[in-house]
Formats: sequence, structure tokens, C-alpha cells
Amino acid sequence: MLLLALESSCDETSAAVVRDGRTVLSNVIASQIDVHAEYGGVVPEIASRQHLEAVSLVVEQALRDAGVSLLELEGIAVTQGPGLAGALLVGISVAKGLALGRRIPLVGVNHIEGHLLAVFLETPVAFPFIALAVSGGHSHLYRVDGIGRYTTLGQTVDDAAGEAFDKVAKLIGLPYPGGVAIDRLAAAGNPQAIKFPRPLINDGSFNFSFSGLKTAVLTYLGKHPEAATSGLNDLAASFQAAVCDVLTRKTAAAVAATGIKRVVVAGGVACNSGLRRSMAAFADQQGVELAMPSPLLCSDNAAMIAVPGDYYLARGYRSGFDLDALPVWPLDRLSQRLMEAP
Ligand code: ATP
Ligand code: MG
Ligand code: FE
Repeated sequence: MLLLALESSCDETSAAVVRDGRTVLSNVIASQIDVHAEYGGVVPEIASRQHLEAVSLVVEQALRDAGVSLLELEGIAVTQGPGLAGALLVGISVAKGLALGRRIPLVGVNHIEGHLLAVFLETPVAFPFIALAVSGGHSHLYRVDGIGRYTTLGQTVDDAAGEAFDKVAKLIGLPYPGGVAIDRLAAAGNPQAIKFPRPLINDGSFNFSFSGLKTAVLTYLGKHPEAATSGLNDLAASFQAAVCDVLTRKTAAAVAATGIKRVVVAGGVACNSGLRRSMAAFADQQGVELAMPSPLLCSDNAAMIAVPGDYYLARGYRSGFDLDALPVWPLDRLSQRLMEAP
């Protein structure tokens, strides 16, 4: 099917034209980062208004880039949740308008399902696989037995990995979102310079905890104020190493426990060069098949929404025009999907 996909769950307005849930004809992403950076984080009402300003232009650009007219579209997929309610409503309203005007089917998609399946736009991966979803709001390990078949193995008990990056970045005076900035600083630092804790590493669960790590950075800065200036590279590298080490070792434990030697890493934090390196090293050592989407497909984009969107539409699933935003929507509760089965 030729689909238009829309994503507006947080601070990126994105529209993509994707054929058969695999071939990306266009993937336009308008980021609001500059607007929110001024406030040190995403301001929900500003996000909604920015989506409203950008969405029509982004859709037009996606169609133009793809060389596709509205009349050729065969379906619409839109992020239904999780995310900011007001932000989600913008994408959902536009999706409904287009589907209604064109009389083509509409389907609401889970944003995290999009992150997990983005990999299929580049690489085929067989089921089952272990998926690590690490983003601004999630640090989850899943067992994936097929599209729509997700079992949560573990998750963060406090901050998400991306949130930890962003909070630590703020502590050392870096602009929002800090993940990329820490990654850049870490490149010139020594990851072994400071021994930060590896929270929950031996607790036998697949859960994560990152808030203590943020406190450890704060405590270290209290004792070594010079680290905030001359020692920033080592600080960033050591913090990043702690996060990546925990993420990689818990993923390795999930592989060992399930015997599933296939791993997908997804979400914005999967852009992190330290995480990509440590995952690649682990996969290499253990003979594990590893797939990580290229950075553009790891962070928020609409093309990833088209992957599950196409799958569900092609199987006859439809969302009704009463489709509502789901700000909280755990992936293993996809049955909450407000749509009609075929
Ligand atoms: P969710 O997907 O959980 O709803 P989100 O959509 O806001 O949250 P993403 O856009 O998937 O999150 O990811 C954004 C997060 O990724 C931010 O916290 C950002 O700092 C982090 N991030 C992006 N690039 C990097 C990087 N190179 N290193 C570390 N973190 C990064
Ligand atoms: Mg974002
Ligand atoms: Fe995301």
C-alpha cells in the first residue's frame, strides 16, 4: 500500500510517504528543538502550537519529495500514543481530515511500536528478537515474537535513558536535548576516568534505574567542581560509559535468559555512539545478530510509523473516526487499540 504516515507525539512534526511499510519515498522531519531549548525542555502547549504551524507544510513537503499526489494515497497511519496529548491531537486531527476527505482507511499506531519496527525500513530481522527501546521516555527490554506480539522483560523504574542524558547535560550546563552534546564531549574523554555506579546491574531483573546515576554525577561535581570546566570530557565519557554498560549488559542477560540471539536497538538514545559501539562489541563476542537503524530512523520520524501502520491496514485493521490520543499506552497492551478487527 502507498501510505502517508504522521508523527507528532513530542517535539518533532513528521510526515512520510512509505510503500508497503518498507520503501521510504519521503520522510520529512520538522524539529522544534530550538524553540524548547530556551526553556530547558519540551513545553507541552508550545509543542502543540508548533505542530499546528508546521503540520500542513510538512505533509505537503512529504508528498512533494515522494512525487506522490494526495489522490494516490491508499491509507493513513498516525501516532496515537504514547506522548503529549495536545501534540498527538494535531497529527490525529490532520490524519482524520485526510482520511475522511479521501475516503481511505486510517490506523492509529503506537509510537514505541514504530521505534521497534523502524529497523525493517533498512534490514530484515527474523522473529523472535530481543528489542531494547531507549528514548526520551522509555528504557524497555522487550521480547518480540512478531508484529503486535511484544512481551515486556524489563523497564526503567525511574528515569528513561534519554531523560538521564538530558538531565546530566543540564547539570553541566549543556543545552536541551543533551544526549547529542554528551555524546560529542565523550568522544574526547576517558570513559574510565570516573567510576560511576552501574545501577541494578546484579539484581537479576531486566529493569533499569538511572536516577541514582544522575545523583552520582551531581555528588561528584560537588566534590570536584573543576570537573564542570576542565574535566567535562572525562565526566561525559564516564557517565555515558555507565549508561551504555548497563544497557548492554542487561540486553546480554536477556539474550542469555531467552536464548534468542537476535537484538534490535531502537529509539533516540540508539543514536549514541558509545551505545552503538558497546552493543556491536557484545554482539560480536556472543555471535549475536544485531540490528540498529541508522540515526535518522532511531529518533522520532514518521516513516517508522508506516511500518506497523502498513502491517495493520493490510490485514484489514481500521481505526474509527472516534480515534482518540492515548498519552499512556504500554506496548504489551496493544489490545487497547481502539480499532475494529477485520
Ligand atoms: P519516546 O520515544 O519515549 O516517546 P521521545 O520520542 O521524546 O520519547 P526520542 O525522540 O525517541 O524520544 O529520543 C530522544 C532522546 O534521545 C532524547 O532524550 C535525546 O537526548 C536522546 N538522544 C538523541 N541522540 C542521542 C545521542 N547521540 N546520545 C544520547 N542520547 C541521545
Ligand atoms: Mg524528540
Ligand atoms: Fe520517540
